[in-house]
Amino acid sequence: MNSVDLSENFRTVMRRVQEAEIGAGRAPGSVELVAVGKLHSSESIRALAGLGQTAFAENFVQEAIQKQEALSDLDVEWHFIGSIQSNKTRLITNHFSWVHSVERSKIARRLSLQRPEHLAPLNVCLQVNLQHERSKSGITASEILPLLEQTAELPNITVRGLMIVPKPAANPQDQRPVFAQLRKLLENANDRGYSLDSLSMGMTDDLEAAIAEGATHVRIGTALFGPRIKKAELQW
Ligand SMILES: *Cc1c(COP(=O)(O)O)cnc(C)c1O
Repeated sequence: MNSVDLSENFRTVMRRVQEAEIGAGRAPGSVELVAVGKLHSSESIRALAGLGQTAFAENFVQEAIQKQEALSDLDVEWHFIGSIQSNKTRLITNHFSWVHSVERSKIARRLSLQRPEHLAPLNVCLQVNLQHERSKSGITASEILPLLEQTAELPNITVRGLMIVPKPAANPQDQRPVFAQLRKLLENANDRGYSLDSLSMGMTDDLEAAIAEGATHVRIGTALFGPRIKKAELQW
């Protein structure tokens, strides 16, 4: 994609986010746009960073690290949003500021234990699955408080909130109930004494519904970068 498209896409997404914030009576700038660069080249990420975007997310560890090396001169913040194997925790905790996709206490313990001392604590969201999709990652609603209890005291991670990837819906507004449910689960946890401040929800098709229900981080790929390229064709 050429840079003209990218800057137009960026403006369009920023406008969508801002209109959704205003529509929901929320302060402009209260939602952080996280640009999802998976299966897009490091040059596309560099171009978007050049337009002022600072938070970037990746799903695959090897792909992410190759791009980070190519982009090491940039001052950007990296978020990991993919599924996590325990043999990858060291790379993840060394190379990212945020991890949105934690669903096991064993993984959380390793991320904390392996976090380099010179880095601030790793920001973590617990990934939740409220629609009982077997193919999808995430803990159920009843597993949230137990996992919070197991992870809240870990010294080198800070559990910031909850993340969800809902089942696709024909009408994006149909996602509102599941986003509302995630917000209520976060409020419920805070009523029990936690101080979670992050709801990572909303993607290209449903960011308005997510912002209306309290999203603090929207994770946007396609609307910014266009269709993803096939892995075999990707030159980092
Ligand atoms: C790919 C991906 C996104 C971005 O999806 P788009 O629909 O392209 O905006 C967001 N979150 C997660 C977890 C993803 O894997």
